[in-house]
Order: sequence, then C-alpha cells, then structure tokens
Amino acid sequence: MKKRLLCALLALSLLTLPGCKRDPEPVEFSTFAMDTMMSFTLYGDKEKCAIARSTIGMILSDYEAALSATREDGGIAKVNRADGQPVELGSPQLLERTLELCEVTGGALDITAYPAVKAWGFTQEEHQVPSPAELAELVEKIDYTAIKLEGDTVTLPAGVEIDLGAVAKGYVGDVLAGQIGLTSALLDLGQSTITAVGAKPDGSPWRVGVVDPARPGACFAVVELEDMAMGTSGGYQRYFEQDGEIYWHILDPDTAAPARSGLASVTVASPSAFLCDGLSTALFVMGLEDGAQFWRDHPELDFEAVFVTETGEIYRTAGLEGRFSLAEGYEDREVKVLE
Ligand code: AMP
Ligand code: MG
Repeated sequence: MKKRLLCALLALSLLTLPGCKRDPEPVEFSTFAMDTMMSFTLYGDKEKCAIARSTIGMILSDYEAALSATREDGGIAKVNRADGQPVELGSPQLLERTLELCEVTGGALDITAYPAVKAWGFTQEEHQVPSPAELAELVEKIDYTAIKLEGDTVTLPAGVEIDLGAVAKGYVGDVLAGQIGLTSALLDLGQSTITAVGAKPDGSPWRVGVVDPARPGACFAVVELEDMAMGTSGGYQRYFEQDGEIYWHILDPDTAAPARSGLASVTVASPSAFLCDGLSTALFVMGLEDGAQFWRDHPELDFEAVFVTETGEIYRTAGLEGRFSLAEGYEDREVKVLE
C-alpha cells in the first residue's frame, strides 16, 4: 500500500517538473481580412478561446469596413469622396495618432500619398509607371498638413485623398491584443505585422522570424517577443517589374515614386503594433542613416529596429541585445549594432 502511494506521489512530482510540463494545445486558425491572410494562435481554456475567436472576427470585420479606402462602403473611401466637405468619423483616434506620426517623422510617413499609390496602380494591381509630369502633379497633392481634424470631423481639400494602409494593421493588432481577454496569444496580421500577447504558456518568449528581403521564403533572424509587436516594411512585399526596373509600394512623399533609400527592409519592434507598422514604413523612406538618427532622437517612442540594405548588410539597434539572433543558415552574417 505504502509502495503504491509512493509511486503515485513520484508520478505526480514528475508531471509537475519543469522538463515534463507540456504546453496546452493552442487554438489555431487563419482568416482573410484587410487584403491579407491572417493567422492566430490562442492559448487559454476552451471557452475563453472561443470567445476570443469570435471577438477577433467581429473586430476585423468592423475595422476592415471603417478603414478601407478601396471598398465602396469603406469609412476612408467616404472621406476621400467628400470633395472638400467635412465628414464625421466614428472614432477619430487612429487618424489623430497617425497625423502625429506623420509630423514626428517629418513627413516620411504621409497618408496623403494615396493619389500617388493609385497612380502607380498599387490599389487595383494594374501597375504602371506615371510620367515625370504626372509625378510632379502628384507630389503637389501630398501634404498631410492640409488635413483638418477638428474633434470628430475631418476635412480634406478637394483633390486630396488619404489611405491608412501604412498603419491600419498595426493599429488593429493593438485593438485585438487589448480585447481578446487572453494572456498568451500570437496574432499574425499578415505581411509581417505580428503582435505577441504575453509569453508562451511555458513562460518563454514568442520567437518570431524576420524575412530575408533577398529570399522572402526564408527568415534571416529571430526576435524574441513578450507583450511586444513587430512589423516589417520591405520592397519585396508588393512590387512590379517593368523594363528591368523594380517598383515597390512604399513611396517617397518628396517624389511620389518608390522610395529608393538604399534599404531592402526595415523591421520595428515595440510594445505598440501601431508604431511598428507606421515607423517601419517611415524608416524605409528615411533610409539607414536618417532612420538610425531618428531612433537616437526619439527614445520616448520606445522602439527598436533592424535594417537590411539593398546590398544585404544587416544593422540592428542596441536595445535588441539578447532578443535578436541570426537564424539557422545565416550564422556567419555580420550584424552591425547601432548605438
Ligand atoms: P506598409 O506595408 O505598412 O509599409 O505600408 C505601405 C502602404 O502604405 C502602401 O501600400 C500604401 O498604401 C501606403 N504608403 C506608401 N508609401 C507611404 C508613405 N510614405 N506614407 C504613408 N503611407 C504610404
Ligand atoms: Mg507600415
């Protein structure tokens, strides 16, 4: 009898040893929203995960409608059709924060680039290279300071149009993280916008890959995230080729043409997915030197970055120490640390 009790106690203690602990099974699912495939990994009891799953569905469908510039019934599409008239917004918070980011980035992020995005054919995937005269005209329309936001009401001058494509997925990532009611989840909003809620159930951080812009099927690095988000902007994500030249979807507001800053991708890690999304786009436009200086000048924004140049050089900011490592197959690549 004593022996049996001892065996039972031994089995119980083995089960609770750290090495014998098993992660619970996650609830995993994918869905297509905001123009990309999104994937979710949720940990928690069955009922909580089911509630989280339906919350995710509702939030995605609400924000997809509110933030779309391309859908006929999209909230931003309505703002763009107003022809100089004021439009009341359901919630002005995202626009307000985005305008602040346009300002702090010195206009590298400029949501009035939308007419240029359309002229290059990136909204309808019917690509074309505008003429120099057209580009000169488009540059004239890019100026976020012309947007008037007063309380809940926004007014754009006739001819000015906006698009929140550079920040929307990150913003929605923050909304989801705050509302799913779980303490461990990975929310992959597609096109390299990822939010890590808490840590993994075993207490270790989520390990998220950074895509190699030269080989988009592979990851050159891994960043460890816990209650943090990560976002990448890269020329490889959406582009077209014409007469041997590659043209991508991130535009330089000064030229209305694809930003040629010498960078192939920028990855930003921050507790705010909104900042990851907006800043990765802005830093891509700025280029390595100005981007690194921006990071030094703005410690209050609480972000870290990884830059990959078009020649394949890798730079990361000092704050990623201990959280950044090269992936398998990339161990001998040099990583320069920005201080
Ligand atoms: P992302 O993929 O987050 O880097 O955002 C790129 C998207 O934002 C593009 O597809 C355009 O819709 C829009 N965009 C392109 N260039 C800019 C820019 N300089 N500022 C703001 N939005 C931009
Ligand atoms: Mg972005």
